[in-house]
Amino acid sequence: MAEKEYDVLVVGAGASGLAAAIAAAEGGASVLALDKNHVPGRKLLSTGSGKCNFSNLAVTPVRYHGAAPGFLEKAFAALPPREVHAFFDGLGLLRAEKENGRLFPRSMKAQDVVNSLLNRLEALKVPVAPLTEVTAIKRAKGLFSVEAVTVAPKWDKKAQAGGRKTYTAGRVILAAGGAAYPQIGGGDKGYVLLKSLGHSVSAPCPAIAPLKVRETLVRGLDGVRLDAGLCLRVGEKKVSEACGEILFTAYGVSGPAALDLSRDALSALSRGPVVLEADFFPDYTAARLKALLSSRAALFSGRPFRHFACGLLNEKVVRAAAERCGIGWELPAGPGIEKLAAVLKSFTLEVTGSLGFEDAMVSSGGCSCAEIDPATFGSKLVAGLYVTGELLDIDGDSGGFNLHLAWTSGLLAGRHAAK
Ligand SMILES: Cc1cc2nc3c(=O)[nH]c(=O)nc-3n(C[C@H](O)[C@H](O)[C@H](O)COP(=O)(O)OP(=O)(O)OC[C@H]3O[C@@H](n4cnc5c(N)ncnc54)[C@H](O)[C@@H]3O)c2cc1C
Repeated sequence: MAEKEYDVLVVGAGASGLAAAIAAAEGGASVLALDKNHVPGRKLLSTGSGKCNFSNLAVTPVRYHGAAPGFLEKAFAALPPREVHAFFDGLGLLRAEKENGRLFPRSMKAQDVVNSLLNRLEALKVPVAPLTEVTAIKRAKGLFSVEAVTVAPKWDKKAQAGGRKTYTAGRVILAAGGAAYPQIGGGDKGYVLLKSLGHSVSAPCPAIAPLKVRETLVRGLDGVRLDAGLCLRVGEKKVSEACGEILFTAYGVSGPAALDLSRDALSALSRGPVVLEADFFPDYTAARLKALLSSRAALFSGRPFRHFACGLLNEKVVRAAAERCGIGWELPAGPGIEKLAAVLKSFTLEVTGSLGFEDAMVSSGGCSCAEIDPATFGSKLVAGLYVTGELLDIDGDSGGFNLHLAWTSGLLAGRHAAK
């Protein structure tokens, strides 16, 4: 094998890879980062609808799924969340705190998060090679040889793809991300590389994805946004619940509250039919809602139901609930009001699945955490290999938790790889 060209080679210049490259270079290592995309941090640019919800003030292991609980306790002890926030302070990125502890750049521009990271890499003189896809990683005699091919950019019809290059490095940080959003860099290459190095990988599944439901009535609600309490049930058994904004779509339900339930919905489907119950008055008890509707029926006595419905809740939602109760839109308000109160507190839809990786924010599954040291994100199987971010069998709730894990794992891996 040739001489070592770099101390640390980072495979994937996304969230965790950029953080890892900075930490390794700050630790004194010579570093090269490779990415198959034409620009580093491509997925980061799309996060938080272009605003990048990069962390949360309430990061705790309970917001994550997949790994054994103790794994993240050790990781957050090795790099407490406030130190990750201090890392961004050090990059000069001012932050804005939004509801539920969500942190954004003060400019509300994801581009500023990417540029802050790239500016630091430039100052550290760390090169990032775009359009370079790693196809194999081999280890022999204490060195890694990393094989890569040149990727032709989609817009450049004349560009040549497939040029081969081999890099050698003392350590490799595998930061190739998960399978979500293949249109901007997601894919299975990282899992393939992990397996080739002997790691166990559980099959990735879409997580934080919009839910699909059987009922076609949702087509009429497409585009309606409102706050609701959501509860998933298999038979009588409650599987999971969430509260917050939902968005009806032509095929089902999206929006933050529904997205967070998709992980549990998919696994519950293997146990039987899954019902999603939406409570459109989560701030009212059933008795209080019944009293409200009764007094409203008295107020609109003798007038059409549509007068009763106006101003109560999104009109399309009241209409769908009324149809379920057999209440005519033009008929006098009053009859069926008790049933309507019950339906508005528990509007049921049958979940048939979730959308796939093209629409999922993250993928669950990945590299077994039992094979990774939580204090360094170093592999317990391959000396000198580090695994970060979404490649790990850990996925967080929406709200900045996934990017927080990317920074934590990247910074710890980079620091230790430089040693
Ligand atoms: C639309 C969308 C919105 C999101 N919004 C948020 C949010 O607001 N807050 C939040 O916390 N999380 C959000 N996430 C999730 C978050 O973006 C990811 O969890 C995070 O980016 C994972 O970081 P990573 O470093 O593991 O992977 P990535 O950031 O995906 O980086 C992996 C990189 O590796 C490169 N790569 C892959 N294979 C190879 C290879 N073989 N050779 C070379 N390079 C390779 C890819 O091109 C990519 O650049 C969102 C995700 C999506 C899709």
